[in-house]
Amino acid sequence: MQTLTLEQETNPWEAQAARFDFAAKKLNLDQGIWKVLRYPSRELIVHIPVGMDDGSIEVFTGYRVQHSVARGPAKGGIRYSPDVSLDEVRALASWMTWKCAVVNIPFGGAKGGVICDPKKMSQGELERMTRRYTAELIEFIGPEKDVPAPDMGTDEQTMAWIMDTYSMHMRQTVNAVVTGKPVNLGGSRGRKEATGRGVSVVCDEAIKHLGMSIDGCRVIVQGFGNVGSNSAKLLAQKGYTVIGIAEYDGALYNPNGIDIHALIEHRKRAGTITGFTEAEAVDKHELLTYNCEILIPAATENVITSRNADRIRCKILCEGANGPTTTIADEILADKRVFIIPDILANAGGVTTSYFEWVQDRMGYFWTEAEVNQRLDNIMTESFHDVVTYAQTHNVNNRIAAYMLAIDRVAYTTKQRGIYA
Ligand code: GLU
Repeated sequence: MQTLTLEQETNPWEAQAARFDFAAKKLNLDQGIWKVLRYPSRELIVHIPVGMDDGSIEVFTGYRVQHSVARGPAKGGIRYSPDVSLDEVRALASWMTWKCAVVNIPFGGAKGGVICDPKKMSQGELERMTRRYTAELIEFIGPEKDVPAPDMGTDEQTMAWIMDTYSMHMRQTVNAVVTGKPVNLGGSRGRKEATGRGVSVVCDEAIKHLGMSIDGCRVIVQGFGNVGSNSAKLLAQKGYTVIGIAEYDGALYNPNGIDIHALIEHRKRAGTITGFTEAEAVDKHELLTYNCEILIPAATENVITSRNADRIRCKILCEGANGPTTTIADEILADKRVFIIPDILANAGGVTTSYFEWVQDRMGYFWTEAEVNQRLDNIMTESFHDVVTYAQTHNVNNRIAAYMLAIDRVAYTTKQRGIYA
């Protein structure tokens, strides 16, 4: 096994590149195309001045990276977090390219990020920062160029501000410039729950594939943001037993199952999952190592590393977050025969419904929630089977199969378009 420092092991760009190289080698990818797809095609760094509430001026650093536009406009979220870095945004942009290709939607990949702590900023400060960031990106984004969406630290309101700022510059309302908007501003029904819904669909398919049943299937979810809470809610509705929830400020465990609706209500009142009396408070790191059938990391990168992978005891690891497992942890989990549903498949429900939103905005005709959900379920089910069949045919694990499938699709289009000179 490689010897890497934890810092090297947890660099998301290195993790992405290592898997890309491995899959590209397996595919016997043409050397030239390899170089084209290994690095992002455009990277923009902006310094965003913002008038703060106390009268001072703060300058925030932001990024937007477009990895590929081979299959369509670049697509991907915007993250507000103190931990944002260019390497992280690059990795997340590449993952968006592979993710869109795995589910076969006509987008390339991009990602944005601003180094800031949204929890410590007022709504006014966030609005001014978002509008100025959008203005700095104005030539870079657009419905046919690059279409942002929410990610960690951003939400429907952020998307509404971006849509409005872009529209003011264009002198007309352009709602297809972002997805994940409020429904009354051209958002899609079902978008908010879409990532969690996709997670629940691939869990259904995985247990069928492995001959397991929903009855007695215990689930632990790490993260109770948009992805984690909707995954937990939808899985509980389907009859899975959600026995544990971990958040950044604490974790809960109840072997008989946690009432997710009650927990969501508690969080609304208390602003935190802690203090919920119908489950035991446990250590948030240890909870990941508890016995369960399905573990869903749905928070951030690098939560399963060389430091804890040997203690993970799930049968299925379903990656709701982007990049939650390091490459070294992958090897350890493979030895333990954990069935991994990789991030670029497991959490693709969000961008798939973003695609539906973009399509509806461009048509000006909006679907019912049932229509959106049905289309999403079909794509997630089909993509799960594409990846698992690919893995069996080529004798590789699910993660490498997902990368190979995606790289092959993007490489094919890149070759067909040819290199412009
Ligand atoms: N941020 C989400 C992701 O990582 C959604 C991206 C989108 O809808 O464009 O997949």
